[in-house]
Amino acid sequence: MKIYFATGNAHKLEEVKKMIRISLYDMQPMSELGFEGEIPETGTTLKENAMIKARFIHEKYGVNVFSDDTGLEVNALNGEPGVNTARFAGDDKNSENNMNLLLERMADQQDRSARFTTSIALIINNEEHVFEGFVNGKIAKEKRGTGGFGYDPIFIPSGYAKTFAEVHYAVKNEISHRYRAFTKMVEFLKITNKSLI
Ligand code: IMP
Repeated sequence: MKIYFATGNAHKLEEVKKMIRISLYDMQPMSELGFEGEIPETGTTLKENAMIKARFIHEKYGVNVFSDDTGLEVNALNGEPGVNTARFAGDDKNSENNMNLLLERMADQQDRSARFTTSIALIINNEEHVFEGFVNGKIAKEKRGTGGFGYDPIFIPSGYAKTFAEVHYAVKNEISHRYRAFTKMVEFLKITNKSLI
């Protein structure tokens, strides 16, 4: 059975394919449905935004679909950028600008603790479900590494000395917010035997 990933982000689809045993699913990007546009994220929480995207595709195409929304919450900045993580430095969602702004805002901060959260909304057999995953860490003093995407060069996961952009993608994928959220979704699908597996 097909399940669609409501994302236009090719990096995310690749990451998820690597972390989930793809043979169990016929996982397709939403572009396969002929949809290339961007779904407005008008929610005030990550969960709401994930559900808005999943509902949009489900209502338009009637397919099984999941969507994710991720935010970086920095304690010294009272949880910012949070739901504005993608657009922290502007609507063009430029990762370099986002990281530069965050480093600037963190310049004098001693408490560098932060957390990535991924919320997943799944609509399957017309039922809605939400799953969340977290990874704690801290904001580096400068960008390091070339792997990954987004804020990876400035996020150091707890228990590691390297940023997400310096560790091998397999290491990131074993501990990341996204992996933890997706693992919960996969376990749910197995346990409830929703006829995908
Ligand atoms: P999205 O909800 O997955 O589109 O992510 C929102 C923002 O968080 C974007 O700016 C992404 O670049 C950033 N982001 C999401 N996941 C990661 C990650 O695994 N590492 C670093 N940044 C991420």
